[in-house]
Amino acid sequence: AADLPHVSPDDPTAKALGYVEDANTTKDAKRKAGDACANCQFYSGGASGYGPCQLFPGKSVNAKGWCVSHSKKA
Ligand code: SF4
Repeated sequence: AADLPHVSPDDPTAKALGYVEDANTTKDAKRKAGDACANCQFYSGGASGYGPCQLFPGKSVNAKGWCVSHSKKA
């Protein structure tokens, strides 16, 4: 299946959540080492590339990305 449109870091929701395409580039102290979309419970894509996030309906986020709503998969 084709990727959903990628979330733009300029998207208002992305800005509100501090979303970045590369988790390592965030300056947010809430991000713990190793946290990324790929291991977030809201993410349903593969280990690399882009995949859906429940917080961004109709869009896809970077597996290596991150935002303040990150919650580790159980
Ligand atoms: Fe990535 Fe999780 Fe934030 Fe969605 S909620 S953008 S999967 S860290």
